[in-house]
Amino acid sequence: MSTHHQLPRSADYHFAFIDEDAKREIRRGLLKALAIPGHLVPYSSREMPMARGFGTGGLQITLSLVGVDDVVKVIDQGSDYSVNACAMREFIERMAPGVRTTTQTPEATLIQSRHRTPETAMVEGQIMIYQVPKPDALDIVEPNMARRRRQHAEGDYSPLYVRLYEDLVEFNEIRIANRYPLRINDRYIMDPSPIPRFDNPKLHLSPVPHLFGAGREKMLYAVPPYTEAISLAFEDIPFRVESFNDEHGARIPCAHCGSLESFLEESTNDAGKTIWRCSDTEYCERHQAQYEPSLAGGQEELS
Ligand SMILES: [Zn+2]
Repeated sequence: MSTHHQLPRSADYHFAFIDEDAKREIRRGLLKALAIPGHLVPYSSREMPMARGFGTGGLQITLSLVGVDDVVKVIDQGSDYSVNACAMREFIERMAPGVRTTTQTPEATLIQSRHRTPETAMVEGQIMIYQVPKPDALDIVEPNMARRRRQHAEGDYSPLYVRLYEDLVEFNEIRIANRYPLRINDRYIMDPSPIPRFDNPKLHLSPVPHLFGAGREKMLYAVPPYTEAISLAFEDIPFRVESFNDEHGARIPCAHCGSLESFLEESTNDAGKTIWRCSDTEYCERHQAQYEPSLAGGQEELS
């Protein structure tokens, strides 16, 4: 059965599905979020024709900002082709007639993402939009929202630092793999959504605004362009990103494009062998054109 039958027809709805009052409220919330970098701004999250938890927060931002001149890219865990990314892209195409979609990062003006920041460096004029399940970095140490708001207001982040310290004492490393907290503009500590630690440095002094929308939790927040975004660490224990080195300490190249710089994910090739490949499919495809495995050595002797 085609999914087309379940989608509403664009003629029955506003351009980009959401009504203009709601778009205005979301845009106002985003302006406030940009004016107070890293601060959580509540908003009245709208009902969308998909379940909360499927990226409705990010989608509401995209639909509030998109205009007919925009080019939209949607990625899920680095892939333009996963079910969630395809469904969102199709919904935007149908609800915002005239808007172009793309898989190419350099072409996009709006990039909506779940769990990754693109590998290809973004430039001024683009906007990065994240789908967020849990917006508050403090929720790993404080379950009560009223107390969390007070801690943010007072800049009392000691419980979070204690948590990181306890990890170091017990496990000799900070175990937060994704949602690794960042301090924004030397003030608020922010949850970057479940992107890997590897992506955190891409938010620091970035030329583009990074907008975050949590539909279920009804929160917006943002990192404006050229703003400091520093991953939490200690003076003597610096922040580290995931490494993709083999047992000899050499970086494993992507099995498809040979990249030595991208975030890799484990996969299985046609022969059933475990390989490492770029998580960002668009970046990987673009680099495959220039790649000659015989020169780069590939992964054969590494595994
Ligand atoms: Zn690759």
